[in-house]
Amino acid sequence: MSDRRMQLLRIDAHDPGTRRRIGTGRVDPSERPTRVRFDDDGATREIFLDWEGALDDAGRLRRCPICDFTKLYRKRSLPAITPYVLVVAFAGIGVSLLGFDDPRLLAVLGLLLAIDVGLLIFARTQLVCYRCRSRYEGLPIARYHRPWDRREETRHLDADDRPNSD
Ligand SMILES: [Zn+2]
Repeated sequence: MSDRRMQLLRIDAHDPGTRRRIGTGRVDPSERPTRVRFDDDGATREIFLDWEGALDDAGRLRRCPICDFTKLYRKRSLPAITPYVLVVAFAGIGVSLLGFDDPRLLAVLGLLLAIDVGLLIFARTQLVCYRCRSRYEGLPIARYHRPWDRREETRHLDADDRPNSD
């Protein structure tokens, strides 16, 4: 591992028991910090991270360091502005269909479309844990992590509900 780039892993931590959000924090995976403080609107909570087997040979996240679960799914994190841009764009299209074919309006619509495409391009991909819902962002994502899958979801819910499951 000669090329050890400083890549920070951004963690949006959720409680393994309740799936409730705990807070966000940034860690350097190469340092494997075991106790990390997560901040949530001024309140901090310390969480234990288990790095044993959490990273694969390429330094990518293999399983959830918070709840030790191996099933993660990939999710695109769109900036929060996107829905508003879409609403404005559709409103603009509606207006133009009603006959306001002002070139300035079309220019604005084109600009909004460009912004939206840009947001889609720059949207980052997160890994989300099927069990505790913690989100991880900032590291390269391995191909073996798939998008969210209903069968996986129900399988793990079943496993959690079943007493003495192996
Ligand atoms: Zn987890």
